[in-house]
Amino acid sequence: MNNKSKCTCANFVPVQCKAYCCGPVPINKDIYFKNKHKCFREVKNELWISSDMILPDTQQQYCTFLGPDDRCLIYNDRPDLCKKFGKSDSPLLQCPFMDKHGKKRTAQERELVGVEFEQALNAARLQSKLDGVNSFF
Ligand code: SF4
Ligand code: SF4
Repeated sequence: MNNKSKCTCANFVPVQCKAYCCGPVPINKDIYFKNKHKCFREVKNELWISSDMILPDTQQQYCTFLGPDDRCLIYNDRPDLCKKFGKSDSPLLQCPFMDKHGKKRTAQERELVGVEFEQALNAARLQSKLDGVNSFF
């Protein structure tokens, strides 16, 4: 996930990228409390999504650990979900700018990534509702 010094796509699309990959993510409780002092964005709610996972809810677009320069403040401790971003086939984990092989996406491909993300998110929300759980993670 986002660490621009390691994000090769940011080499050719630095202006377009708004750190899309760094929305609020669920994190193991021990890792969260170990790093809580590094929270950069205020956590409005600590949502327990299972007995050992917390979603630090900033009520904004970004993860609490995304620093002022768009770098991850807990890079070595970042969740697996962050590590998988841009490298998986899941429509929920696609970088809009670069495919998993490191190839720059066209404008059309970027648009498709957005459409497929929304579709997958809606499907996951529906499934979550049907299952009676409060999270799709
Ligand atoms: S933990 Fe780090 S890499 Fe993961 S979403 Fe937050 S800022 Fe991004
Ligand atoms: S969204 Fe893509 S371009 Fe932007 S920081 Fe994340 S991986 Fe890099």
